[in-house]
Order: sequence, then structure tokens, then C-alpha cells
Amino acid sequence: MTNQNYLSKEMMWKATASCDATYDGVFFYAVKTTGIYCRPSCKSRIPNDKNVTFFWSADDAQRAGYRPCKRCRPDLRFPKYDPLAFILEDTIQLIKTCYKQNISSHDIASNVGVSRFHLNRIFKDRMGCTPRMYMERIRINKAKELLLTTEYNSTQIGYQIGYQSISSFYNAFKRNTGFSPSQFRAIHASNTLNHD
Ligand SMILES: [Zn+2]
Repeated sequence: MTNQNYLSKEMMWKATASCDATYDGVFFYAVKTTGIYCRPSCKSRIPNDKNVTFFWSADDAQRAGYRPCKRCRPDLRFPKYDPLAFILEDTIQLIKTCYKQNISSHDIASNVGVSRFHLNRIFKDRMGCTPRMYMERIRINKAKELLLTTEYNSTQIGYQIGYQSISSFYNAFKRNTGFSPSQFRAIHASNTLNHD
């Protein structure tokens, strides 16, 4: 589950334990002891959280060897027709494929086929953030990875992940992590040294 920690494990576990249907289609949970995976809203017995693994798609769960639950049918795309879930899923897919480009909220909304206002509302409702914030988190996660695994400087990294100026990258990074990109790299580099 790389690059996608916009939902924390705690949030997903909370949604699972409360059978929260707003997350249907957003993630799936699988239970090690039964080998079965479900939608968050499934009314089957709440599993022990130690046995639960989360997946972003039914395909991922199946590839990991889990079978779909007969009760909530997570293998069917949307058993109860939910147009908002389609919009949400399309938006997430679009952002995941296009975050490296200079793409605005307007571009995202018009690609998905709704107004920016409408999309912001749906997204905020179900994901707790706007598409723009979601894209920012994906970019910053990628930036962290590049800072720790490559020699690129902040400017190069900022451009690689879709920022048009170093200051907008810097501000977004600071907003999300509390550090500047170079501070972040320095802290983690010294951590590694200390542990070696
Ligand atoms: Zn189920």
C-alpha cells in the first residue's frame, strides 16, 4: 500500500468496526483466519483487528489469495448503484496517474465530468479532504521517498512530482511534514547513521 496513506490504518479499522458504508469501494479488508475479504460495510462478524489486512482494490485482495465474501460481494464493482462512488473512484485513479503533471482542481473535475464545487463536496464528504489536498499528500509521500532514496535536490524533486515552483513545493512539504525537504532528509540521514 505505497503512496496511498491518505487513510490511516486507524481510520480504516474504525470504518470496518462500525460497518461504515461511506468507505465501500474505497478500501477492502481481508481476514487472515478465514481467507475472506469484505467491504467495510459488511455486516458479518467484526474480526479481530490483529487478523485484518487492508487493500485498496478487490483485485489486490484476490491476488493476495483472499476469496470474496458471499454476503457483501466485494468482487462486484458496486452492488448497490452508487454514482458518487464512481466519481470518487475515477478521481482517485486520475490523481494517482497524473499527480506528476501540472494538473489543477478544474482539470480533475472536468476529466471526471462534474463541477469542481460538486467534486470537492463529494470528495470531502467521503475522504475528509479535497482532491487537491489528496493529490498534495500523494506528491509529498513521493517526495519523501525521493529524498531518502535518491540524490536529487529539492528543486529537482519538486518538479518531478508536479510542482511548478520550488516555493509551492517547499510550502506543501512543510505543511504536511512540519519540515523543509532538506531538514527532512538530514534528520532521516542522521537517524540511519545512528542505527548503523
Ligand atoms: Zn462481507
